Amino acid sequence: MDKRTFLKSIFLGTAGVVATGFGSKLLARNRKKWDGIFRLPDLPYSYDALEPFIDGETMKLHHTKHHAAYTDNFNLAVAAAGLTGKSAMAIMKNVSGHADSVRNNGGGYINHRLFWRVLTPVSGRKPSLELSKAIDRDFGSYENFRESFNTASKSVFGSGWAWLIVDENKNLKVTTTYNQDNPMMDIARDKGMPILCLDLWEHAYYMKNQNRRVDYIDAFWNVVDWDYVSKRYENTIKPGKARS
Ligand code: MN
Repeated sequence: MDKRTFLKSIFLGTAGVVATGFGSKLLARNRKKWDGIFRLPDLPYSYDALEPFIDGETMKLHHTKHHAAYTDNFNLAVAAAGLTGKSAMAIMKNVSGHADSVRNNGGGYINHRLFWRVLTPVSGRKPSLELSKAIDRDFGSYENFRESFNTASKSVFGSGWAWLIVDENKNLKVTTTYNQDNPMMDIARDKGMPILCLDLWEHAYYMKNQNRRVDYIDAFWNVVDWDYVSKRYENTIKPGKARS
């Protein structure tokens, strides 16, 4: 390493530390100063990254049209209801007290936000040891869990979602909801913190699979981000964090 490169590396190293420190302070300040507007999150991968299991055209429309519309309409509904500044989670917990527009668009906003995160183009991810043990405990085996999730997904008549949740006793449970409802809502039949979800609206698969929901459900298992789902599980069962 010559002197110039050496000095440069020291300078960049120091600048890096300063930037990181400044960055995290900025982040903390931004978090406190959230302006109350819900925003469409970026996908953590490109639209065509999940092919051939989920096609790029579907992903693009689903994100830029459907999720974007739920996000915009949730903001309008929240403002109209005088709820600006409340978190999406807090709104979900008391959704029975609000207008249908809050329930439907709030669900649409938060459900898709989770859906993008539980998918990945990286193949071969598996549930962590901790999550595997819980799956075996609550379903008997991974195969039984998958069967249970598939059966639940097929049973939803019309539009809805399938979920793997951690309930208030920290047990895993498969459940379904209609429309854009979710297990975080006070009106849910099975309440809990979702760690995995599958969008069963036709807009999620019709372009590629037409009416064959079963093909879409089968394809879904190839793109589940078990690293993320496992992390979500482990965070949820931490002491004091069991309740959704
Ligand atoms: Mn959708």
